[in-house]
Amino acid sequence: MAKIPVLQNILEANEAIAGQVRQRLERAGIIAYNFIGAPGAGKTSLLEQTLPRLRDRLPAAVIEADCATARDAERIKAFGVEVVQINTGSGCHVPAHLVLLALDSLPLERIRLLAIENVGNLICPAELDIGESGKIAVISVTEGDDKPQKYPMLFRQCCAVVLNKVDLIPHTDFRRERFENDLRAVNAGVPLFGISCRTGEGVDAWVEWLIGQTARE
Ligand code: MG
Ligand code: ZN
Repeated sequence: MAKIPVLQNILEANEAIAGQVRQRLERAGIIAYNFIGAPGAGKTSLLEQTLPRLRDRLPAAVIEADCATARDAERIKAFGVEVVQINTGSGCHVPAHLVLLALDSLPLERIRLLAIENVGNLICPAELDIGESGKIAVISVTEGDDKPQKYPMLFRQCCAVVLNKVDLIPHTDFRRERFENDLRAVNAGVPLFGISCRTGEGVDAWVEWLIGQTARE
């Protein structure tokens, strides 16, 4: 009997569609970042801090992915930014074909930056290509300082790390030096931004990096 490599076929199909997403984005001159982090790390909060700072500088749109609800899309919409919500149901990540579908609902000719907020999950979104230009790891100090060693795939794959909730460090056992050493062990050169979405600390430096990336592409 012939073997049926099902899993491999699914991954290959996703990769082919990710290629279509990438082609469409490149044709439209759009740089797309895939925001990956645990539930509650502050991915939506980061976008809420970032989008107002991009106004008049970098036209942006957002794709929100959650298992259920349009709550995050509603939070983004409040900033007057174009947003599409994807509900993945029991799916723990957003696959490329849903991103491809979402592109149909966005004014691609008017945007330069596309932020894709993935489902809260540190594992499979890190290994799945959805046609993005780069992956952004979003982690918060309340999750502990051991994540780069425990989830090396994400920290190896990403092009920037945003460490959120740094204002809470005095109230936790988070050791920043240990976090940074562990991060450097898996990804020596990746830019690291320590920020607080609650106080706004460090957000400007992150936004300048983001704008600089789109200028370079
Ligand atoms: Mg969110
Ligand atoms: Zn998954």
